[in-house]
Amino acid sequence: MTNRGRDTVCVDCEVETMPTEWPRRAEFYIVTDEVWAASGITPTGGCLCVGCLEARIGRQLTPADFTDVPVNDLNVTDDRYAWSFRTPRLIARLSGQLALPLDEIDCGTA
Ligand SMILES: [Zn+2]
Repeated sequence: MTNRGRDTVCVDCEVETMPTEWPRRAEFYIVTDEVWAASGITPTGGCLCVGCLEARIGRQLTPADFTDVPVNDLNVTDDRYAWSFRTPRLIARLSGQLALPLDEIDCGTA
């Protein structure tokens, strides 16, 4: 596994969005260009966890906000990939389940 440095750290709260060590609680996803543009971050400007992206766009994400790629596919749970260990919050957004509290994930030390 390559070490990509801190490319996957949330720009705003600095939580690792794709941890490769336990606890693996990934919030690695791809949203549409429109949603990302609304965040104010450039396409190569870094990553945001779900909570920080939602804070920036002022609403919760819905399934329509995500693109049609494997990292967004809840049927893909290959444990070779850190991103497949999704947080309950990300699963809720991808699946359109009822909203969960924004503070559900611990964005503290990791
Ligand atoms: Zn964040």
